[in-house]
Amino acid sequence: MFFYIHIPFCRQRCTYCKFALSPMVKEAQVNRYVAHLRKEIRGFFESGDREGDRIESVYFGGGTPSVLSPGQIADILSEFPADRFSPSAEICLEANPEDVTESWSTGVLRLGVNRISLGVQTLNPDSLAAIGRSRPESVGIALETLADAGHRNVNVDFILGLPHVRPGETLRDIRHLHEKFPDIRHTSVYFLEKWRYPKDWPATSMDDEAQREEYRTVREYLLGRGFHQYEISNFGLPGCESRHNRAYWDHSEVRGFGLAAASFLRGERFENSPLFSRYYEGEITGRETLSPEQLRLEQGMFGLRTFSLDEGLARPEKVRQLLSEWLLETRNSKLSPTLTWIFLIDHIMCELL
Ligand code: SF4
Repeated sequence: MFFYIHIPFCRQRCTYCKFALSPMVKEAQVNRYVAHLRKEIRGFFESGDREGDRIESVYFGGGTPSVLSPGQIADILSEFPADRFSPSAEICLEANPEDVTESWSTGVLRLGVNRISLGVQTLNPDSLAAIGRSRPESVGIALETLADAGHRNVNVDFILGLPHVRPGETLRDIRHLHEKFPDIRHTSVYFLEKWRYPKDWPATSMDDEAQREEYRTVREYLLGRGFHQYEISNFGLPGCESRHNRAYWDHSEVRGFGLAAASFLRGERFENSPLFSRYYEGEITGRETLSPEQLRLEQGMFGLRTFSLDEGLARPEKVRQLLSEWLLETRNSKLSPTLTWIFLIDHIMCELL
């Protein structure tokens, strides 16, 4: 079974961020939150729910999980029964480059954390200043610190469509980091949705077509380095794909702990409250059992994003049409959007499902 732990604290709010979080780290607030998280996790295991299931992943997402000390992370992990971890369990922490110190890196490695996901976004200093994130130098320092500590499975996240970033720059940044830090075994490249653009941002230097071209060149580069693209935005070396992300795409059961954390169990989806006071009272929101039709749509959507849509989930007449228009192709007996039209995935989904 897969577990997600939400850490809703950041040192400051990025200008494009719309997540439920507290953009300041106050010690008392964090301590109270960690204590409640522990109670929530303990309650789940004491309930006996899913007793026979192995723990396949524990993913600390946020927010910024790296605001937690190794001691706090150890306290949270101690609530998971040690004998239930699968030998190949993934324990992943999202980290902000500026939080990655020597003692933090060695501390979390000792706890069994075997994957670090570093939020880089871009190395353009003007862009980082505009979005309210760290200085570019801190990325190199963080990667070096992680390597020295012995972390051998690191992901870097990039975003396309940020202000000030010019054509060719994202490829140059990614190439630079990959050549210097061989422990980068996974890279995610996301497009920033337009609705997230704050009104006061400078216009992006790249139009949609320039962003697509950048994505294509980054993709070629990563494939050339032996990375495998297993989802539209995700590339990993063989064996280094994120097990946790795959769980979402495969519709596996995930139990989320923490503020606004979502769970999917027994075909039912529910979320903890996004308000601290209500979360502490145990309020659950949005409980719904997915209908067979909703499940089909979600499986279809994830199938397309992971280039492996079961033909049986799609409308047969549309499959024929989209294949003849080269929007779709067949890969290993599954349907996949063609690279040329990968950006029309939303349109393809609407047509097909
Ligand atoms: S680090 Fe992530 S969660 Fe925190 S403010 Fe920035 S985008 Fe939002």
